[in-house]
Amino acid sequence: MAEVRLEEVRKVYGNGHVAVHGATFSVDEGELVVLVGPSGCGKSTLLRMIAGLERITAGQLFLDGQRANDVPPRDRDVAMVFQHHALYPHMTVADNLAFGLKLRRYPKAEQRVRVRRAAEVLGLLDVLDRKPQQLSGGQQQRVALGRALVRKPRVFLLDEPLSNLDARLRVQMRTEIARLHRRLGATMLYVTHDQVEAMTLGRRLVVLRDGRIQQIDAPLALYHHPVNRFVAAFIGSPAMNFVEGRLVREGGGLCFREAGGPLAVPVPPGPPAGLVAYTDRAVVLGIRPEDLAVAGGPQRAGPTAEATLTLDVVEPLGNEVLVYARTPRQQLIARVPPQPLPAPGEPLHLALALDRLHFFDAETEEAIG
Ligand code: ADP
Repeated sequence: MAEVRLEEVRKVYGNGHVAVHGATFSVDEGELVVLVGPSGCGKSTLLRMIAGLERITAGQLFLDGQRANDVPPRDRDVAMVFQHHALYPHMTVADNLAFGLKLRRYPKAEQRVRVRRAAEVLGLLDVLDRKPQQLSGGQQQRVALGRALVRKPRVFLLDEPLSNLDARLRVQMRTEIARLHRRLGATMLYVTHDQVEAMTLGRRLVVLRDGRIQQIDAPLALYHHPVNRFVAAFIGSPAMNFVEGRLVREGGGLCFREAGGPLAVPVPPGPPAGLVAYTDRAVVLGIRPEDLAVAGGPQRAGPTAEATLTLDVVEPLGNEVLVYARTPRQQLIARVPPQPLPAPGEPLHLALALDRLHFFDAETEEAIG
């Protein structure tokens, strides 16, 4: 297994489109790192450059410390699993698994051993003689993984491998991949646009937007300390609430006032200097749905401020309820325990957890403080 390192890797396509603007990150030996971001942000391009399927325009790629920019794909010893796993329909599972080994002229006995071991790991022993169309979607996806597995590559590159599967199967395969990673101790780079998949699989996430890395961190660090509004909005579902307004001085402290709306949120005493510097300036307040509670209902300990909004829509999910409430300018989503609630159109008193507020620069969108 191997370490992957990128230094200022850049990709400009033939038409002049800059798909990746200088990406620097590494995947340690045995680590599973997830590249995550919306469609078109450059995830696949990065993966394809590591695989050698796409030329690196500038910057350096190192595999195990060796510069690999000009190493042909077949000599990189990386295996890629795609979203559209093209299994050969006329071949059995065993032959599909062995195909890459056959191409590379591995001895027959070695092929058999490797296929068997991969089938064992992936729970495919009972279906080795079947053709792909006789398999479930999940089994087909496992065969696709198996074809990478039998090669015992230095690095696994997985490009949205689960996005063709239905929701339930995706969750199941997600845990299978996590287990597989633990069991193999393999170096893996996993691409997805699905932030839940990213959060649950990766020990570290690389968040991309428009070809630029926004933040590299552990899932919970991204969740609690997003560096900007984009990351704050992208990680977490339902997304963080954002309210535009100003920071003003009030009664000896700082207070956030919604622009053109009634929300007023006092900043707890002793704010960081970075935030104080934004006094009398436009900022964006961010608050996660679980940091809003129904006043008078069950809530977390800690300082809160109350705000009266109008209840809009209630979505009961069983273990929790999503409550959509609005000010004249703004909709906020609260994630609260099941409890009696006013009717839609009635006033709703929300308690905002003051120790959980996020603030962003209104122009640069960078996190403040
Ligand atoms: P993602 O995997 O995050 O969806 P991609 O890496 O596939 O994004 O693409 C990044 C950007 O590069 C997109 O804007 C895409 O349209 C563009 N792109 C991808 N391949 C090519 C190509 N061969 N030529 C020109 N532009 C491309």
